[in-house]
Amino acid sequence: MNLMYRSTRDSSNRVTASQAILQGLSSDGGLFVPETIPVLQKTMEELSKLDYSETAFEVMKLFLTDYTEEELRDCITKAYDTKFDTPEIAPLKKVGQVYYLELFHGATIAFKDMALSILPHLLTKSAKKNNVKEEIVILTATSGDTGKAALAGFADVEGTSIIVFYPKAGVSSVQEKQMVTQQGTNTNVIGIHGNFDDAQTGVKKMFNNTELADRLKKSGYLFSSANSINIGRLVPQIVYYVYSYTTLYREGQIAKGEKINFTVPTGNFGNILAAYYAKHLGVPIDKLICASNENKVLYDFFESGRYDKNREFILTESPSMDILVSSNLERLIYHVAECDSNKTVELMNALSTHGAYEITDRMKSNLEGFIGGWASEQETRETIDKVYRESGYVIDTHTAVAVSVYDNYTAKTGDAVKTVIVSTASPYKFGKSVLEALHIPEVPEDDYDQALLLQKVSNTAIPGAVEEIRTARVLHSKVCETEKMQAIVEEIFKII
Ligand SMILES: *Cc1c(COP(=O)(O)O)cnc(C)c1O
Repeated sequence: MNLMYRSTRDSSNRVTASQAILQGLSSDGGLFVPETIPVLQKTMEELSKLDYSETAFEVMKLFLTDYTEEELRDCITKAYDTKFDTPEIAPLKKVGQVYYLELFHGATIAFKDMALSILPHLLTKSAKKNNVKEEIVILTATSGDTGKAALAGFADVEGTSIIVFYPKAGVSSVQEKQMVTQQGTNTNVIGIHGNFDDAQTGVKKMFNNTELADRLKKSGYLFSSANSINIGRLVPQIVYYVYSYTTLYREGQIAKGEKINFTVPTGNFGNILAAYYAKHLGVPIDKLICASNENKVLYDFFESGRYDKNREFILTESPSMDILVSSNLERLIYHVAECDSNKTVELMNALSTHGAYEITDRMKSNLEGFIGGWASEQETRETIDKVYRESGYVIDTHTAVAVSVYDNYTAKTGDAVKTVIVSTASPYKFGKSVLEALHIPEVPEDDYDQALLLQKVSNTAIPGAVEEIRTARVLHSKVCETEKMQAIVEEIFKII
């Protein structure tokens, strides 16, 4: 029996895993969620003997049941190879009292590589299984990291094309350079005059436009999404929560059955939602600490039960978390509403009409285990400096938000449960912010000079991704107004 996925907005809208991956978003605007959350079939003891790829297979086969074992293994082998600069794929480092789960060893030195290195393979297999003849067009809005990771994943993958929209003034210089130098005949990168939410809204509009979909189809194309709303992104992210637990167990850091906390720097709520699924899979997890930067919509939500995006959008030094509408939260809303799609529709309609909604007391009580926290820009900088002075370990701005939130949480609660900090980006990706936080005088403007300095300070090797963009040519320079996003897509694919 296949595990089916249903839309958060209409329970009768049911599809298989491969269909959900192909569609990205449900046609009613909802997100696909598994009808039941499976449980691990192996004990932690057994799982602790497996490497990353084998763990990925054990976890993903539970969720993606309409893929054959052979297909899944093939996807995993193609994804988790030497694109990662360490055979551990997701190494765990003990620094001081906490463990850092380093998810930045892939092609673009940020955590989105974990899922985006496998999604193209899941997607092309899915197209074959479902007899799709059209070319798949990946339409993506990015706050910086998804864009490059998706471009790197899809570049020159047969039967696919990719268009990435990013906020022209809202990503780091390294992030922008990584994207606009992307090679591959099927890649398109476009800056927009707007913020990430504008980009995301524009992309969502195109997805929900059935008239556009019809015209696309006539021209031989089909939209799909590589955004974190796609379950093909979500499922591979569950793997490293299992793997970090089994690593701790294998290394004798925790006893059998001992619960641990995870602190996750959060934006679109995809990464931490994967942790929630891992908890339901049977990983002994106590608290899931959701860390926000000054765009603290999620903190306010966990505190009050009210989600309110009516506020100023703040550009911070952790730009991948500058988000006011966390799309994946809809899945959690659906789960805590005990799979009530009518309730979910009501709240999501309130969000799009009034920019706010409030959950019921019962739903609030179902949020148990989640803790919200936020860090100011000042706290984030101080945390980078403090961690470095105490241990010599250099963390990036996103990871620092998580550490700051965790430090405040333990100071307030005294919670001594062992905690994994989910480390989402390499400090090399945000060199300038990191060096300034470390009070390095006269930080050079040039990205590569920053990397050289950071290498000296942190005593770590400069990642291949940074070496690469040093000499790469700019291949993409299109910029457009938010309202012109669809027109640009029609122009690229010559759709009439
Ligand atoms: C995307 C991203 C995040 C936020 O992850 P979500 O799944 O959107 O919550 C945090 N840190 C970095 C470096 C990212 O790229």
